[in-house]
Amino acid sequence: MTTEAKRCALYARISPTPEKEVGANYSIASQLYEMGECAKKRGYPNNPALHFVDDNFTGTTLDRPALNRLRDLVRARAIDVLLVYSLDRLVRGLALQLVLKDECDRHGVTLEFVRDHFESTPEGKMMFSFQGVINEYEREKFRERSERGRREKARQGFINSGAVPFGYRYVGKKQGSRGTMIIHEAEAATVREVFAWAVGGMTMYQIAYALNAAGTRSARGGLWSRTTVFQLLRNETYAGRACLGKRTKNPQIIACPRIVEEQTFAAVAMKLAYNRKARVGRSSRKYLLRGKLFCRQCGKRCTTFPGKGSSAYYRCNNADRFTHKQICPAPSVVKERIEGAVWSALWKAISDPAALTHFARAYHARKAVPGRAKRDLGKRIAYLEQKERRAIEIMKEGVIDFAEARRDLALVRAELQAAQGERSAEVVSMPEDAVIAAYAREVAAQGEPVTYDDRRAIVENTVVQLRYSENEVEMDCRVVLSGAGEKNCYSGVRADAQRQ
Ligand SMILES: [Zn+2]
Repeated sequence: MTTEAKRCALYARISPTPEKEVGANYSIASQLYEMGECAKKRGYPNNPALHFVDDNFTGTTLDRPALNRLRDLVRARAIDVLLVYSLDRLVRGLALQLVLKDECDRHGVTLEFVRDHFESTPEGKMMFSFQGVINEYEREKFRERSERGRREKARQGFINSGAVPFGYRYVGKKQGSRGTMIIHEAEAATVREVFAWAVGGMTMYQIAYALNAAGTRSARGGLWSRTTVFQLLRNETYAGRACLGKRTKNPQIIACPRIVEEQTFAAVAMKLAYNRKARVGRSSRKYLLRGKLFCRQCGKRCTTFPGKGSSAYYRCNNADRFTHKQICPAPSVVKERIEGAVWSALWKAISDPAALTHFARAYHARKAVPGRAKRDLGKRIAYLEQKERRAIEIMKEGVIDFAEARRDLALVRAELQAAQGERSAEVVSMPEDAVIAAYAREVAAQGEPVTYDDRRAIVENTVVQLRYSENEVEMDCRVVLSGAGEKNCYSGVRADAQRQ
């Protein structure tokens, strides 16, 4: 909202005993004048229809005719700014201050004062700190009370509206109940069907697909997914046991009308447990490139999936969440083929001295662009050099004590030297060829690993990212060269692995 569009109300008050109050310039006219000037300065229109004056009223109560009308406007969000000469003109007493401040906050009205910036006054500071404490306390109290209420309600066998799953409807206060569930027949029929399908051996994916194809909508009105079907099949409510406070420390089970027979529910539960076990077993299949392979076309990480028999694949994970139809046209790749190609390229890159040197060079050539840290360092060095020159000039002029100036110069020079050392260290971060070659020979001497675990360890420690496309795999690798002197140097390997 622009400044011109702001609706600003002015409030002025004078008490029945003005002579007892501090400050003589509290007359209604002077307050209105000051507020008008202030509004002009802050760019608010001064609209006389929004002047509110309580002449001869105390500030220790909120029941004042003009203030009442003003608060109605605040609550109706009919103004944007409430401008008052000072806080004590608006209200006296912390509790009432909090009431008004809170009301303004909640209805998007900014409370402003002429005399000084409210938040910087002692009153303002105190009010804000108290407000924080009190809000916190109120929230806590409310939470505790409603939590206690919920627990008590559950203990008596009643539920809250939030806990009603697909297939049921909530009967609450409006219907003269303390909170119970009744069966929604059409949805319950769907639930029974889903359980029957699961018993019959349909997968969760197939069930979700069938529901979506039939136009059935889930509890929230959306499409069904494997997850929502899974959650439905696991929900004990359908067997007559509603669980309240699932996420709390002490969940409570209360009886409710059942939609499926206990036998059916148990049969499905067994099937789910069996599936889970089967899935766990399957995931132990050894994928060498798991988590490292990305699709070059769309940038998504690839998933792994088993094929028929002993075959397995990597595939771009860019698929529709519900239908599981592939969105990205990138083809899936056979596990053995891509792993073989990547492994042989990687092994050559890290164990062949010539290859590793080549890749390290290429990497450093790409990295040679000065980074932000380097630029900052350059600035700092320039600054220190200037400081050094000035220190020498001062010494020449003999303006200050010679010994002191020398000490300063020594400090600046030490700092300068350190900064220059840091810079040269950055520049020489490309390790020497001999170091790189030695590393590669060391790797080669250990022999090419043959077990999955050994190879996987190398992939995990070396490969940053692999991107595959139709014909090749692009590799980003990082090799930590130990024995390069004071610190480890990073070097990169990039290989194009041709898929056979
Ligand atoms: Zn893709």
